[in-house]
Amino acid sequence: MTENVQISGKVKTGVRADGEDLDPFDIALKQLNKAASVMNLDPEALAILSQPQKVLQVSIPVKMDNGKTKVFTGFRVRYNTARGPAKGGIRFHPEETLSTVKALAAWMTWKTSVMDLPLGGGKGGVICDPKSMSQGELERLSRGYIRAIADFIGPEVDVPAPDVYTTPQIMAWMMDEYETIVRHSAPGVITGKPIENWGSLGRGDATARGGMFVLREAAKRVGLDLSKATVAIQGFGNAGQFAVKLVREMFGSKVVAVSDTRGGVYSPKGLDYAKLMEQKKKAGTVQGLAGTEDITNEELLESEVDVLIPAAIENQITAKNASKVKAKIVLELANGPTTPEADEILYRNKVLLLPDFLSNAGGVTVSYFEWVQNQTGEYWTENEVYEKLDRKMTKSTHDVLDTANKYNVDPRTAAYIISVKRVADAMKARGWY
Ligand code: GLU
Repeated sequence: MTENVQISGKVKTGVRADGEDLDPFDIALKQLNKAASVMNLDPEALAILSQPQKVLQVSIPVKMDNGKTKVFTGFRVRYNTARGPAKGGIRFHPEETLSTVKALAAWMTWKTSVMDLPLGGGKGGVICDPKSMSQGELERLSRGYIRAIADFIGPEVDVPAPDVYTTPQIMAWMMDEYETIVRHSAPGVITGKPIENWGSLGRGDATARGGMFVLREAAKRVGLDLSKATVAIQGFGNAGQFAVKLVREMFGSKVVAVSDTRGGVYSPKGLDYAKLMEQKKKAGTVQGLAGTEDITNEELLESEVDVLIPAAIENQITAKNASKVKAKIVLELANGPTTPEADEILYRNKVLLLPDFLSNAGGVTVSYFEWVQNQTGEYWTENEVYEKLDRKMTKSTHDVLDTANKYNVDPRTAAYIISVKRVADAMKARGWY
């Protein structure tokens, strides 16, 4: 996706040959700076918020099934804790970089803040290819990662969760390893756990469900009838799979295109969730599903739909393809799918972009609910979780769209204005600047 190019003699990673900077942390700072200038942020607050508070890099030796030891590299970044313990997922990805983890940790800070949760932001990552690893290898890697970062995390310090290619099972191994180290029960150290290890009801589909509440409120404001809307969804993982299911179940919208890393499928008649799941299980990809047409990921993003939901990874809508997006609403369930250049093109073309750290905040919001339940020992019903999630997502969506109108800016910048102000105010009251 990105390549190394020579810039005035220095190799800079993440810059595409045509000059668009795709380095995730550069992008995160560009977004922050844009909001800072609109809101006249104190330069000292901006200086603090332009760097993570702490960065940890670890090496994790893992005994592989063939008897040989392989050394993996992992990271945990604590971006900001002015509003509470750091919170954010762990990614297992072959192309993980420190810059990506830093960007994701910054976005977590804005995400917990826009949702007004009493938490800060952090993120973790391990460079690995989970698809080529056995369950035993994954368990040993997960436990090794926790041994390496155990001093850096804790229920009142920094609370990890699932993200790309990490699962409730992985969270259970990690909690178990942490509890073995600290020698007491500590379910609040990690969220997204299986229900039998005190995970929260409603956490599994929370990212997509939260996004649906954002979509519902935004559609009302622009007068889009979701029961007649067509939808394209890029990504068929933690977020995308449930988005396919829920957008139909909750609104009756027609999902006409879905993709995964290998490519996508299209059908003007609409795609069936159960059939997509079956195909994914059988073939390892949604492609090849009977009665549908195979398409590429590029075609999916440019398809003729009312709502486009990027639910995969960062840098998917860029300066190259933004002008070809035909959707009226883009609901970002992925983190960082749109570059700053693409943001401007979409805004000019009057596409309503609902930014990642609002749209996908359902995951961390139910993680927060899980953490509250773990810390108090009182557990909620699924309906209680859904209702609380709906209320929080609805409020934040209107806050963001009202702020966009007030400042005459795009919703991403508006979301930054709200989040950054809350974090800056918390830092100020603590005497950090
Ligand atoms: N990984 C999810 C995100 O990016 C959830 C984080 C969490 O639950 O802490 O928001």
